[in-house]
Amino acid sequence: MTSTVLFADFSETPDRNIFDKLSQMLDRLPLSAAVAAGDLAAVKVHFGERGNTAFVAPHFVRAVADKLRELGAKPFVTDANTLYAGSRANSVDHLETAHRHGFTYSSLGCPVLIADGLRGGASVEVAVKGTHFKKVKLAHDLARADAIVCVTHFKGHELSGFGGSIKNLGMGGGSRGGKLAMHSDVAPLVKAEKCTACGRCAASCPAGAITVAGHAVIDQKKCIGCGACISVCPVRAVRNVWDSGPRAMQEKMTEHLAGFAALKPGKIAYVNFINHVSPACDCYGHAGTPIAPDVGICASLDPVAVDAASCDLVNKAAGQDAFRAVHPDADWSVQLDAAERLGLGSREYELVKVA
Ligand code: SF4
Ligand code: SF4
Repeated sequence: MTSTVLFADFSETPDRNIFDKLSQMLDRLPLSAAVAAGDLAAVKVHFGERGNTAFVAPHFVRAVADKLRELGAKPFVTDANTLYAGSRANSVDHLETAHRHGFTYSSLGCPVLIADGLRGGASVEVAVKGTHFKKVKLAHDLARADAIVCVTHFKGHELSGFGGSIKNLGMGGGSRGGKLAMHSDVAPLVKAEKCTACGRCAASCPAGAITVAGHAVIDQKKCIGCGACISVCPVRAVRNVWDSGPRAMQEKMTEHLAGFAALKPGKIAYVNFINHVSPACDCYGHAGTPIAPDVGICASLDPVAVDAASCDLVNKAAGQDAFRAVHPDADWSVQLDAAERLGLGSREYELVKVA
């Protein structure tokens, strides 16, 4: 099966700017195939950890919310709390961070909600036919929404190679219990002979799982598998145990996405913003130097196709596998293959350019 992926680059003219192109793209998708009048429609975003600047800007999110209102739906902009301690670990901190980053009722024209309750406990269990799970735990307000538009900043990721629509909804839409289950076996290892004992990993570990005495040591029981230590180590002494952890994590996040797909057949649309393609997740308090030039916006009703197309566009623009270049241990194709096996979409796509 070949899926359609709509694409708009960032070129503009005085009488046709990027918002015009985005609007046309949503009409052609069509967004009305996934969202009906009266729907409580979740716009799933990532508000960015405090200090990060690479997340999808509120003015783009508003453009999506406005289109949902045009269709008669009732949009709200949302994300679920994080597993690790930071500026988005509970709804109070999360909303304050969202507001600091410009996501407010007045800027979006709709409410901002945190989807899994004050401390991440608001969860809905959904049956799936996965390899790892028979049930997944999804953030309550995303699971209970009538429709979802998944608005994603497409970038690199230290564990999954890239972070796109599959990760934004599959991992990001999990409740705290779901996220814990997805990260359960991702604890990395330190190569003692490479470690210079600089202590950066310990300082950035949200779980207090690293001690440095001579070299860094990770307490596997405390580790929550966030991957921060991999990202900050200046000498690449912290490595994934690739055969188990990150591969399993990618498969597990596709199984959580399968939970949403089972709850809302035909009611989810995906929009990837491929600009400031940062090397790692927006969960860090900095954005980092982009690993590829800005590309444009992709949209599809198929999460596998939209991510496959976005990957190909980034790598073409970079002139190399931009994700492997920064995360040589992370095989990003695992998530695409796993999602395809689960019947969530197709890696084969037709790219249709919106002029
Ligand atoms: S992955 Fe690294 S930084 Fe994250 S919790 Fe585990 S040891 Fe700490
Ligand atoms: S950041 Fe890397 S070099 Fe520094 S203590 Fe941690 S493992 Fe060792």
